[in-house]
Amino acid sequence: MSYFINKFFHFKGYFVQKAESNDSEITIHLSPRRKTAVCPSCEKRTKNIYEQGKPRKIKHSKYEGKIVLLSLPQRRFFCSLCKKTFNERVDFAEPRARTTRNFASETICALSRSSFGTVCESYHTSYSFLANHLKKIDFNDPWPKGELRLGFDEHAYGKRHMMITICELRSRKLLAILPNYSKEAVIRYLEKRTEEEKARVVELCFDMKFKQQRTAEGFFPNAKVVIDKFHVLSYAANLIDADRRIICPGIGRYKYENLKQTMRKPRWKLAEKQKEYLNKIFEEYPELKERWNIYQKLCLFYKSMDKEEGRERLKEVRESIENLDRSSYLYSFIGTLTRLEEEILNYFDNRTTNAFTEGVHTKIKMLKRTSFGFRNIDIYIKKMRSNATFCVAIMCTFNCYKSINDTFFILKVKNITFYGFRRELNTDFSHPKSSIKPKMMLSFLPFLVISSLFLPR
Ligand SMILES: [Zn+2]
Repeated sequence: MSYFINKFFHFKGYFVQKAESNDSEITIHLSPRRKTAVCPSCEKRTKNIYEQGKPRKIKHSKYEGKIVLLSLPQRRFFCSLCKKTFNERVDFAEPRARTTRNFASETICALSRSSFGTVCESYHTSYSFLANHLKKIDFNDPWPKGELRLGFDEHAYGKRHMMITICELRSRKLLAILPNYSKEAVIRYLEKRTEEEKARVVELCFDMKFKQQRTAEGFFPNAKVVIDKFHVLSYAANLIDADRRIICPGIGRYKYENLKQTMRKPRWKLAEKQKEYLNKIFEEYPELKERWNIYQKLCLFYKSMDKEEGRERLKEVRESIENLDRSSYLYSFIGTLTRLEEEILNYFDNRTTNAFTEGVHTKIKMLKRTSFGFRNIDIYIKKMRSNATFCVAIMCTFNCYKSINDTFFILKVKNITFYGFRRELNTDFSHPKSSIKPKMMLSFLPFLVISSLFLPR
């Protein structure tokens, strides 16, 4: 049995002697395989034991609501060459640490989906333990390979504190969260990237009111600017809504006759009832219909097959706005269209949108809620970045799992499915020297399991 526990846990250099369990803890007693140890300064093996202390207990994992503890014998050796004493090193934990690397990565994974308080309570650790390990993670990994399309957007950290999110839109990766909305923050981040990386950026995606656009553009010589589709449409819709409030104030406020929302929909998404409702309103207010038609043209513009067709349709939109009354709010949209025409049309090159960045913001908002607020900006950024999508980075930091390509295993024990990683899957289930049958050992498997929650997506 011990053979199998060990095989799955990877206690390199140790035997499992026995496992005990009580109400709150499971203790696994380990004993070293070798009688010797390597001296850290001269790298020679020695077997002179200088001192043998009480076994230390270190936290390893959590299973069935119980903390899994390892009981490790502590041996101090004496090297006769260097005339020095040294402590034995363990592969799966830092020297003098009271937890294994696996424990650190497990808690950080749990932290990426819930608050500090919850994790502290369930893993019996402290805030400082989590915060220190969170600070250790280095997210400044190189940008993905190949052509890059960067999306920039801002989100709110506090009442007036805005932060910039930078994402890679092709491979859907969060690259950075900058601590504030200033020009300096953008420059500081982009200066650190290599010239080769910057040259690979082919597209930059912004919304219409991103203040650091010019600063960001300056760093990328080969990049085209794309204005996000959603923001163009919603800007036009807002202007039309401002007109609507003047043309027909107080109309269409009921739940099923919400004029504001109905007018924002493209024609092909309207239900029959909504169409009837709009027709009824438009008979009464022809001016409103005029504006709605323009909005529909703008929706159709995004359905164009290529840039040239798009250019024609955009011209039509602009002409029809010019026919409107000059006092209308929508009239100011002409200025926007003229100023940003090329950027809006660049959308048709690759159909890039900032949708992924907006999705990241939704996730951030949700995490902010479950975290009950932050005091430290560094911790905030690291926690947002440590979310499950980026979990692989955490595991690599703590040396638990070498790469994503490690063999992935699924086990079914008593109708519960477990997921995990194995470095090699040629584990011999029927060990020749062992009398244990595979079935018996399956009952032990859940031990090693990393719950499906922590899987990288
Ligand atoms: Zn030595």
